[in-house]
Amino acid sequence: MKKYNVSIFVPHEGCPNNCSFCNQKSISGKTTLPSEKDVVSACEIAMKTAPSNQGEIAFFGGSFTAIEREYMLRLLKSAYPFVKEGFFKGIRISTRPDCIDDEICELLRSYGVTSVELGCQSMDDEVLKANLRGHTSRDVEKAVEILRKYGFETGLQMMTGLYKSSFEKDIETAEKIIALKPDTVRIYPTIVLENTLLEENFRSGEYKVMSLQETVELCAKLLLMFEENDINVIRTGLHSGGNVEEGYVAGAYHPAFKELCESEIYLGKILEAISPIPPCEVEISVPAGAVSQATGQKKKNKLFLEEKGYKVKFTEDKSLKKYNVKCCVRK
Ligand code: SF4
Repeated sequence: MKKYNVSIFVPHEGCPNNCSFCNQKSISGKTTLPSEKDVVSACEIAMKTAPSNQGEIAFFGGSFTAIEREYMLRLLKSAYPFVKEGFFKGIRISTRPDCIDDEICELLRSYGVTSVELGCQSMDDEVLKANLRGHTSRDVEKAVEILRKYGFETGLQMMTGLYKSSFEKDIETAEKIIALKPDTVRIYPTIVLENTLLEENFRSGEYKVMSLQETVELCAKLLLMFEENDINVIRTGLHSGGNVEEGYVAGAYHPAFKELCESEIYLGKILEAISPIPPCEVEISVPAGAVSQATGQKKKNKLFLEEKGYKVKFTEDKSLKKYNVKCCVRK
């Protein structure tokens, strides 16, 4: 049965932080806060659209446990009856690592929250400081420990290409995240938005953005690292629409970003597995459903291999695991 997730965006207008990449302050006032009625009607619509008890009610926006307490409770109280009655399997929220403690976890659990995602962004304290995150990598570790104790499904979100970060530092962040064994991860490449500190640094030349190709290569590596450690990556790249396209100044943004990364992974795997010297014909087997990623956007991988002298044919092999390939010489 198709599951249906309800997503409710809670803008954090009163946020005391001023993260380098965030334009929350400049968009404040242009976004409306959801009311209890909005929550109830979103849940009711979802129940009619795809009745199932496997969906989640997600409050996203970054800092759910840091919003005004009375308002946060009103939102939870509107959503909780739908979980209690068995129409949804739980409530998912995302928040900052320094906004998690025992008291808030007790509260979240009592209102049906089952999943908590933390925006850790980087595990490098110098990078966190330079981007005015207002928390440290130790705060992330402590928050994960507390969330575990309360049995929440734990997700970690990281950003690549932040001010003062590098390819190597982003890989180290992924290694530190893997060591924390989260259930899920989201990878967001940094985008420069209007009216942010990052925009000032970018315009003054202090901050250089990673190119799209560099970011794809980095995120392909990160995706593989998480996959090899059995960590489910539930998002790679920013959602299209919203204020990304509106306030976009610079940065690695592509509406099919994950697809680009997966094609990069397949190209790397094919080059590792392909042994004969061209020219020759090669049959490349990939997991079920992965032919388009392996072929690449606009047949990029296929054309690249053909330029090297390989005549390639892609086929599906259901026995292959994600990102694995087999190459056989046909002639
Ligand atoms: S990203 Fe930073 S500034 Fe923006 S809402 Fe979250 S904590 Fe506040």
